[in-house]
Amino acid sequence: RHDVTSPLQVDVDDIFNLACPASPIHYQHDPIRTTATSVLGAINLLDLAKSTGMRILQASTSEVYGDPDVHPQPEDYWGRVNPIGTRSCYNEGKRCAETLFFSYHRQHHVDIKIARIFNTYGPRMHPNDGRVVSNFIVQALNGDDLTLYGDGCQSRSFCYVDDLIEAMLLTMATPKDFTGPINLGNPAEITMIELAERVLALTGSKSRIVLKPLPHDDPRQRQPDIRLAENVLGWRPRVSLDDGLKRTIEYFRQLLRA
Ligand code: UDP
Repeated sequence: RHDVTSPLQVDVDDIFNLACPASPIHYQHDPIRTTATSVLGAINLLDLAKSTGMRILQASTSEVYGDPDVHPQPEDYWGRVNPIGTRSCYNEGKRCAETLFFSYHRQHHVDIKIARIFNTYGPRMHPNDGRVVSNFIVQALNGDDLTLYGDGCQSRSFCYVDDLIEAMLLTMATPKDFTGPINLGNPAEITMIELAERVLALTGSKSRIVLKPLPHDDPRQRQPDIRLAENVLGWRPRVSLDDGLKRTIEYFRQLLRA
């Protein structure tokens, strides 16, 4: 256990830098600390990679594309990010981390991999995570209203956790000359109103859907272009949204019963 905003020296094999809250309500709670986690965390772990000579993978994010005007998003799209918005503590922190990864790669020849992770969900999410899949499932199982933000026409593309982990391990195992960035996610796109209806159908819940204000700078649409991952990793997500939701619902059912 260590706070990545402080330097560390430990024996390591591969380094996966996953440190940073990823749920908007959590990363906006202490925005200065969120940016510090991504920026100082990247410097400290890159220093560790440099001194040990080990490979390092950065968990980057689809948020680097901001509210995209290119759809789906390929890796060579530079994004449309508001640098002073409430999400910028996260997306600009992650963008700066990508910059640092490439600077260490060019200046110190560190073996880097940058994975741009799109919305991911699955068992073991925290019931108070605050992101949409866990919110809807927990609300549906508790018979509470489903909180749909905005008009619900905004879209996301959800990847089941096992698919994502497989892709991350494959990314780490790529040859040294492959740095990424590489999009990892499931291209199956769905609107939030459709997601709410899927969750109600799969849980058999009688909960109602209620509209809440759309958060600041909430991206309208998001879908990964995963052709690079298909070509380089020979990978495609295998778990459909319905199957992944069923497994996640089962997890939360057990958790809420306990
Ligand atoms: N959202 C929603 N209800 C919730 C939580 C989120 O309608 O209880 C919406 C949110 O406004 C966004 C989408 O669901 O359009 C995905 O939000 P999430 O926080 O899961 O991830 P994001 O992709 O925004 O980082």
